[in-house]
Amino acid sequence: MCRHLAWLGRPRSLSSLVLEPPSSLLVQSWAPRRQRYGTVNADGWGVGFWAAGREGPARWRSARPLWGDPSFASVAPVLVSGCVVAAVRSATVGMPLEESAVAPFTDGRWLLSHNGRVDRAVLPPVRDAESTVDSALLAALVFSRGAGALGDVVREVGVADPAARLNLLAADGSRLLATTWGDTLSALVTDEGTALASEPWDDDPAWTDVPDRSLVEVTPDGLTVTALT
Ligand code: GLN
Repeated sequence: MCRHLAWLGRPRSLSSLVLEPPSSLLVQSWAPRRQRYGTVNADGWGVGFWAAGREGPARWRSARPLWGDPSFASVAPVLVSGCVVAAVRSATVGMPLEESAVAPFTDGRWLLSHNGRVDRAVLPPVRDAESTVDSALLAALVFSRGAGALGDVVREVGVADPAARLNLLAADGSRLLATTWGDTLSALVTDEGTALASEPWDDDPAWTDVPDRSLVEVTPDGLTVTALT
């Protein structure tokens, strides 16, 4: 399945987050190291980020593989942000292949990415989903309930579909929220800021693994992990 990451901290270039690390999202799009489901993430990619002088997030998405987007590689070194969500996609069987099905999804100040799958039949009807892909329906459900209900939504959907995998990653410009429910997530806390990622983008021993079925909150004050059961 997909891989995603988020950064909250000192502003840094999108290339330093997405393209340059030895096991960056770019590398993870063809050679992920910890991916449990799927082998390549070539069904699109996206990044959302806050930029100075703009209220909501800016977003760049594409239905092409990240490695096939040289225009982004050209501008990424000069796109600088202190709050970023990015993802590469491996589409679940039967899901649409289109730019609007690629994370991060957005609503107002929020960005949201989903790594996993869910039976769309168990989700309540939602308005304003960006696509019919399961992840967009889930994102619309979270947005309608409020991001503060992220943990509750994951618990409820997890009960309705015991086979669901629900690793979510959300940001509002000043905090990150994430869940682990069936897939991997790692955290890196540094003096410069905090990163959450489906898998570490390098071999820094400071990366820690987040236990399954957790809710993670990152603010400028630090990171908290609570059990979701
Ligand atoms: N189910 C979502 C999709 O089809 C997410 C897939 C994933 O996590 N790989 O895009």
